[in-house]
Amino acid sequence: MFDLFNPTDDHAALRGLTRDLAKGVLEPQVHEFDEKESLNEALLRKMGSEYNLFGITVPADAGGYGLDATASVIVHEELSYSDAAFTLSYLAHEVLFVNNLYHSANDHQRKRYLPQVLDGTALAGMAMSEPGAGTDVLGMTTSAEKKGDHYILNGTKQWITNGNCGSFFIVYARTQKDKRQAISSFIVENNFKGFSVGKKEIKLGMRQSPTCQLVFEDVVVPTENLIGEEGGALTHMMRNLEIERLTLAAMSLGIAKRALDEMVRYASLDRSAFGKKLADFGQIQQLIAESYARYRASRALVYETALRIGPSSRESLSAAAAKLSATQMAEYAARTAIQVFGGYGYTREYPVEKLLRDAILLSIGGGTNEAMQKNIMKDLRDSLQ
Ligand SMILES: Cc1cc2nc3c(=O)[nH]c(=O)nc-3n(C[C@H](O)[C@H](O)[C@H](O)COP(=O)(O)OP(=O)(O)OC[C@H]3O[C@@H](n4cnc5c(N)ncnc54)[C@H](O)[C@@H]3O)c2cc1C
Repeated sequence: MFDLFNPTDDHAALRGLTRDLAKGVLEPQVHEFDEKESLNEALLRKMGSEYNLFGITVPADAGGYGLDATASVIVHEELSYSDAAFTLSYLAHEVLFVNNLYHSANDHQRKRYLPQVLDGTALAGMAMSEPGAGTDVLGMTTSAEKKGDHYILNGTKQWITNGNCGSFFIVYARTQKDKRQAISSFIVENNFKGFSVGKKEIKLGMRQSPTCQLVFEDVVVPTENLIGEEGGALTHMMRNLEIERLTLAAMSLGIAKRALDEMVRYASLDRSAFGKKLADFGQIQQLIAESYARYRASRALVYETALRIGPSSRESLSAAAAKLSATQMAEYAARTAIQVFGGYGYTREYPVEKLLRDAILLSIGGGTNEAMQKNIMKDLRDSLQ
């Protein structure tokens, strides 16, 4: 029988390997790095050098796994069960940079940059958002002006995951002042003159994952670092946003499954009131059952969408629906887990409060839930024509 969640033996093996890694290696470091509010950089590098989890969607002959969006969903789901904040930095490197680079760059750029990001020698990220342009991404003002054999980049990017540890970034910039769609993308190295890292944000959740401002002051970028055609970045920006949204939805699944496991165990085995286990109370049953049903529905939607997302197939409607559904569901499940745990759930002694703090970001990053609602309505309306 076809298994939507593990379509092939390779997928099942990848899930097993990632689950073991999450339990054995991510789990023990969660609390320390959440408290320190800093990235376990050594561990992120090891995801390439030791655990071979970079390049899931990169073909094997280019040094990757040669797998698909489902495989990427599996990895993000399993890692997030143990630590969604670490997984966010993994996603910025693996999906926002590696996947985007492989599928959008030319052979010369792949040869130059892929080996270092696949083995974790270099960490990476993607810079699209700006202080004044998040949802309204085409309102970006960072400019790239062509001067002979190079471009001069000026502007500020905001909220950049891995901003303070990344060596390479895919940076989106405007190459024509008066044309909103004229966006180009460039590979920028952190040692290019004029590049600097600005403020690091102090956040509610996803505390292990660094979020920084990047500043570009007359940064000289060689034309060979332009990805694709000048002014043509929207196509790969939108294509990569689909798998970003899908993997953020997968992270929501990992958080929700953890919330469910924690509350089922606590209510069934650990905590009693009025001489009964919490799980004997109808209202607690309702909270857990509701979370479970929503989790199962979102999980089916995310994996069904994954089957249809690939470098040459566009599925913006399904990706938006999967993200909207899964992120709301994860927030509900994490909030519900805190309720089931009562006062203990509100403390850092138990893992459920972190689940909620981390889950909230997933309704914002990669496009807010309001943006997903707008995209869904636009695609549905367009489908009438
Ligand atoms: C922890 C973190 C990590 C991130 N990592 C990255 C990264 O690596 N790279 C990157 O480029 N970006 C990154 N982002 C940025 C993220 O994608 C943006 O925060 C997001 O797109 C929202 O943009 P904004 O914050 O400017 O909010 P705004 O666009 O200002 O939106 C504010 C509110 O208004 C609503 N809104 C805006 N426009 C509309 C509209 N037309 N209709 C209805 N409602 C609307 C929004 O939904 C939201 O509720 C990250 C953000 C965070 C918090």
